[in-house]
Amino acid sequence: MAETTGVTVRAVVDALDARYPRNWAESWDRVGLVLGEFEHPVTRVLCVVDCVPETVDQALDLGADLIVAHHPLLLKPVSSIAPDTFKGALVHRLIRAGVALYTAHTNADVANPGVSDALAARLGLTGLRPLAPAEGAAAGEGRGLGRVGELSEPLTLARLAEFAAGRLPVTAAGVRAAGDPERLIRVLAVCGGAGDSFLADAARSGADAYLCADLRHHPVSEHLASGGPALVDVAHWATERPWLDEVAAWLREVFAVEVLVSDVDTDPWTVHANRNDLEISP
Ligand SMILES: [Zn+2]
Repeated sequence: MAETTGVTVRAVVDALDARYPRNWAESWDRVGLVLGEFEHPVTRVLCVVDCVPETVDQALDLGADLIVAHHPLLLKPVSSIAPDTFKGALVHRLIRAGVALYTAHTNADVANPGVSDALAARLGLTGLRPLAPAEGAAAGEGRGLGRVGELSEPLTLARLAEFAAGRLPVTAAGVRAAGDPERLIRVLAVCGGAGDSFLADAARSGADAYLCADLRHHPVSEHLASGGPALVDVAHWATERPWLDEVAAWLREVFAVEVLVSDVDTDPWTVHANRNDLEISP
């Protein structure tokens, strides 16, 4: 039963903290309430991957009282939030407008359901298990980073890349794959966000392919040369955007507030050119 009256920043923060305990986050991570008055009422929430000028504009335009962001705005220590700094300007705008900011990052990645569950669901994967099971405070109950599951039907790597491009949010970067395009993929590992630290886990998982973001030349070449699963590289934002729908649906169940999801593409890549796609004039 959704809570109907007097929803405050504190109430939403407490619920989010219970679903994504802060001690589930990696030690380097910074999660939880970033700024905002605990007693401020919440009637409208905006879920975003990144707190950047474009999504802050959107929050202010929509009259949101709270932004739930995936990536931390202030990950590294700062000695100033002066308004002439990039992040300081955002802090000032949010505080002036009375908009609170909350972050659930690696604690939402490791949760079950978490960020990679939403990505796996978009791709229709079933029989999910963690790619790297959680250790420490978050250990147990299917929690961990990344997921491994089965596609509803086997696809060649080339078809899988097209399938992922069709199921995931559209970005300029699109989807690219590494490995034999004809390789048949039944079991797929996925990880929302940067995934190259789990290449060895993907190889051990028995997956035929591993889909994540931010893959690089040398780790990919070495991984493939050592017989690892094929790789599918997707824009970072597109791998985490599906989670916004999941957390928004959950917030709507818990609180009688309006919860909106940002489709502002905050992936930094804005142009993709491919010579094969060009009409080459003689
Ligand atoms: Zn990320």
